[in-house]
Amino acid sequence: MASTTRNRKPLVSNASGTHSSGSDSDAGGVSQFDPQVNEQLATEIQRERWFRVRKIPSKITRSIGPVALCLLCLWSVLIYTNHYGPLGYWAAFISRSTDYRKRFTETGFAHKLRLDSPALNRYSLWRGVVVISVSTSFTYISIALLALRHELFHWKPEMLEKYLRDAKASFLGRLVPESWLNYLFNIYESGHAKRTRDRIQGRDHRATDDHHELAQVVRCVLRNLLVSTLVVFVMWMALLQTGFESHDIVNVPRSFVPPVQILSWHLIGDTFYFFPHYVAHTPRGSQGIHHKVLPSFVADRLGSFLRNAHKTHHRSKANLAIAAWYCSVTEQVLFNLFPTMLGPVLTQLIADKTDHTKTWGTHLITLYVWLLAGTATSVLAHTGFRTSWNDPGKHDEHHEYAFGTHAVNFGTAGFWDTVLGTKGVKSVEGAKKWQQQRQRQAALHIASQRTGIPLTREQELVVEQPMVDYEWVDKRVEE
Ligand SMILES: [Zn+2]
Ligand SMILES: [Zn+2]
Repeated sequence: MASTTRNRKPLVSNASGTHSSGSDSDAGGVSQFDPQVNEQLATEIQRERWFRVRKIPSKITRSIGPVALCLLCLWSVLIYTNHYGPLGYWAAFISRSTDYRKRFTETGFAHKLRLDSPALNRYSLWRGVVVISVSTSFTYISIALLALRHELFHWKPEMLEKYLRDAKASFLGRLVPESWLNYLFNIYESGHAKRTRDRIQGRDHRATDDHHELAQVVRCVLRNLLVSTLVVFVMWMALLQTGFESHDIVNVPRSFVPPVQILSWHLIGDTFYFFPHYVAHTPRGSQGIHHKVLPSFVADRLGSFLRNAHKTHHRSKANLAIAAWYCSVTEQVLFNLFPTMLGPVLTQLIADKTDHTKTWGTHLITLYVWLLAGTATSVLAHTGFRTSWNDPGKHDEHHEYAFGTHAVNFGTAGFWDTVLGTKGVKSVEGAKKWQQQRQRQAALHIASQRTGIPLTREQELVVEQPMVDYEWVDKRVEE
C-alpha cells in the first residue's frame, strides 16, 4: 500500500517548480491544490489493470482464509520440496530435532528424571508431545504479543509508554540494557494513522488499561497452555494405540492425502465445536435445536453446564489476541482442544481398522501443520482488527452479540453456520466496505503522488470504522 503521511511535502516543491511528476497538475494555478483533481484521478486509477492486479494477493488471503493459506505454505515447504533433493526440509527437520533430543537425554537433568530411559523411546514423547506443545505455545505467544504491541502502539501509545516505564523500573528490566527495551517496545516507526483504521471495534479490552486484568488474562492463558500439553499427551497416547509409529515418518505422505484429510478434519472440528458452542449461547429459558432432540430437562441441564463453561471467555465484548484462550479449563478441553484433535485420531483409527495406514493414516507432518494452523487461527480471530490474515470481523460479531437473541457465528469453518442460518452478515458487509474503502484510499495516495497535490484530511481518512462503544464487559454473563 502507498505510504501515507509523507506526501504532504510537495506543497512547497510544487510552488518552486522543482517537482512535476504529473503534467495534469500544471494546468492552472488553482487546480494545483484542488483536492477534486485527486478524487477524479483516483477513480481512473481504480479502473487501471495494474491497480487491480496489485490487489489480487490480499483478495486471495481474504477469500481462502488464513488456515488454508498457512497449510498451503507449509505443505509446499515440507511435502512438495521434499522431492527436490537439497530442499528436503522435512527430513532435515526430523534429523535436527532428533539431534536435540539426543543432546537433551544426555544432560544430568534428563538422567535424574529418568527421561533417558530406553523404555520411553517407544512413546516418542519428544516428537509427539514436546515438539507439538513447544511449537503451538510459541505460535500462540508470539502472535499474541505482536498483536498486543500493535494494539498498544497504534491505539494506546500512552499505555505502551507506561508499560515501557514499568518494564525499565522492574527487577528484570534493570538487568536488560535500556536500548534493548526501547527497541523491543518500538519496532514500528510509522503508519500509525493507517493502522488505526484496521480496528474492527470501537471499544478497548480492559486488559489494555488495567494491568491487574492483563495479569489475570496471562495467568489464565498460561494455565490453559499447560492443560493443552496434557491433552496433547492424551491425543498422542491414543494415536500410539493404533500403530501410528508403524510407518516411516521421514517419508512424506502422497500429495493428495493431506488436503483430503485436512478438509475432513475441518468438518469434524466444525461439527464438534459448533454444537456445544451453539448450546452454550442459547439464552436461558429459550429453546434451541438441542431441545428438539433431547428430553427438555437434559437439554436445560446441558445448556446451563455449557453456558457456565463458556462464561469466562465472553466476559469481554472487545477482542484481544492474547485473550483467545482466556477461558475455563472445561472450555479449553471441550471447545478448543477436543474438536481439533478428534479429526487426526479418527482418520488414523479408520485407516488402521481398514488396513490403509500406509496411505491414509495420519502423518506427523500433517498433524503438525494442522495443530499450528489451528492455534494461529484461534489467536488471529481474536486480534480485533482487519488484516488480510484475519477473519474479517466474524468473531468480533460473535463477541458483540454473544448471549443475545442475535447471537451469530458459532462455528470455525462456517459449514454449520451456513446450514443452520446462524451466519452473521454484518461482518461480511463490513469487511467488503472496508476493503472498498482501503482500495479507494490506496488510489487516492497514488493520485496524490502523480499530481503532487497533497491529500486533505478527509481524503486521508477515507476508511471509517463503525463506532461501537458499549461497556466492554458483557453484563449478561455476570448474572
Ligand atoms: Zn462464544
Ligand atoms: Zn472468542
